[in-house]
Amino acid sequence: MRKTALITGGSRGIGLGIAIHLAQRGFNLAINGVREQDAVADTITQLKSYGGEVIYCRADVGNAGQRAEMLQQVSDHYGTLHVLVNNAGVAPKERKDILETTEESFDRLMNMNLKGAFFLTQAVANRMINQQEGCIINVSSISATVASVTRPEYCISKAGLSMMTQLFAVRLGAHQIPVYEIRPGIIATDMTAGVKERYDQLIGNGLLVQPRWGLPDDVGKAVAMLAAGDLPYSTGQVIMIDGGLTLPRL
Ligand code: NAP
Repeated sequence: MRKTALITGGSRGIGLGIAIHLAQRGFNLAINGVREQDAVADTITQLKSYGGEVIYCRADVGNAGQRAEMLQQVSDHYGTLHVLVNNAGVAPKERKDILETTEESFDRLMNMNLKGAFFLTQAVANRMINQQEGCIINVSSISATVASVTRPEYCISKAGLSMMTQLFAVRLGAHQIPVYEIRPGIIATDMTAGVKERYDQLIGNGLLVQPRWGLPDDVGKAVAMLAAGDLPYSTGQVIMIDGGLTLPRL
């Protein structure tokens, strides 16, 4: 029987990389995002070509009512949810120095990147406890530990997601539900398109041990390994997908 995975923000960027690898591993998919169904129709068709079922769940993860509707949709269609990938995330609309960060941007990022993921995980965890089966994977960022003073609200939201991983891992361990954190570095997606030249330069100047941009495919492979149960005795762990960016060097 095919297992089911819900991937938030799964129709483009890193989320799509994850979706492709889970589809290739035989999962049925529930793809979440905020765009209209028509805008993602081709992507859904592409994902179906791997042989499994794919549904699109349009919902703002930062909105409690829409999260509940999304889980109802998944439950009505598939019955059981085996894997939750908390991937959806937003960057600040404008990078501003920490001395200029606005409350509006701070609230937006906390609500979407952290609070939304927390309460979605809580709701899914309660269902998985009843099943005594499941797996939860959180996509954080190197920004959980690497300080960027021009987007502090992003860094804080990802540091919170990192603690969230540990908390749910501890709480769910006895229920056979591992919880992992994937920590990507610089990945080529729409999110980084606006800072491409700056990152090209940093990579050219030796920022990375593996001197190339990361790809959604790099993250997808790691998530597929975790979702398939290939790291069974490591709940709560962080998997770095950063080309060595955070390796201490001298
Ligand atoms: P992206 O290309 O900007 O895609 C973001 C995805 O999140 C989209 O699918 C979007 O949905 C979805 N999304 C945004 N707001 C949402 C909301 N309120 N509710 C539901 N879905 C929402 O970003 P990405 O680069 O793939 O990033 C994916 C994750 O990786 C994020 O958590 C990001 O922080 C993290 N990350 C990225 C990098 C990087 O270098 N790119 C590095 C480290 C970590 P629509 O498609 O419907 O708009």
